[in-house]
Amino acid sequence: MKYFIALFTLCTSFLSYAGGDGDLIGNGAGLAEHNFYYSIQKIPNIINQCFQSHLCALSPAQKEVIQKIQTIAINNADNAELLHFISGRDNPGFFNDGQDGEVRLAKTSFIPGAKIFINLDLVYNSGQLAITLLQSTSLLIHELGHQAGVRSHGELDLLASKIAVFLERDLQKSKVHLEDFPLEFYSQNFKNPLAQTDSSLTFRGKRFDLKKIINQSIKCQRKRIVSIGYSLSNLHWERPIYNTRSDLVTIALKAWVKLFCLDSNEAIWREDRDLTLILNFKKVEYPDGRDRPVLLDYFAKSL
Ligand SMILES: [Zn+2]
Repeated sequence: MKYFIALFTLCTSFLSYAGGDGDLIGNGAGLAEHNFYYSIQKIPNIINQCFQSHLCALSPAQKEVIQKIQTIAINNADNAELLHFISGRDNPGFFNDGQDGEVRLAKTSFIPGAKIFINLDLVYNSGQLAITLLQSTSLLIHELGHQAGVRSHGELDLLASKIAVFLERDLQKSKVHLEDFPLEFYSQNFKNPLAQTDSSLTFRGKRFDLKKIINQSIKCQRKRIVSIGYSLSNLHWERPIYNTRSDLVTIALKAWVKLFCLDSNEAIWREDRDLTLILNFKKVEYPDGRDRPVLLDYFAKSL
């Protein structure tokens, strides 16, 4: 038993500080898992941005830990064995702390790249998502901190909270409902003009990473000038367009783009664009006889 305690550490406390909207996103089966997989991909760049910003305000000791966390996140970005989602109720005792008997949210060991177990009973509440994207990111930073050798939960809570506050400052969200299903666009800007916004979309239990298609749509005007970074603002949804004959629904999101371009003399220019993200859905009849929209495809253009 002594050996077990030395190997694993159980964590719970991040929920008390992490920011976010506190909102429950309906029909969340799978969305919590998607958020964790999305977060692990984004953590290396988030840490880069934090390092370059005075807003992150990390102490020298925290910088040392966060660099180790970044290395572990990079080395495990494609590690399919890193994240494990398990019901604490179905596995009695697995998430319990022997000292106080309380059920914990996550469990990992002090070895870089070791499995991180996440308690499914606590990331969903009656089938609805009970944890925000920022909280997923914070929890993973905390758990990777243990893998980087830090034993103190409090120390890691403080570190993860600094990053959560840094991210929340420039996180924008815009939500509409399509046939009663929430459709939400996320844009994580960074103050650094050389950074590209992280954009994603959630719909019916999935998170779609839109960064690549948005990056490809945003170009500087003149040839031989390359885009080096951009941020989005003024996110707004247009009314859905229904095509009753084909059961198709199209909905567009618009945003302003502040784009930074680098010319051949290494001068940086600012250009403004209007981004349009177009999403096509098809209504599909499910076995219960109810029609539900399914996301067919999406593309971005900017003018
Ligand atoms: Zn911990």
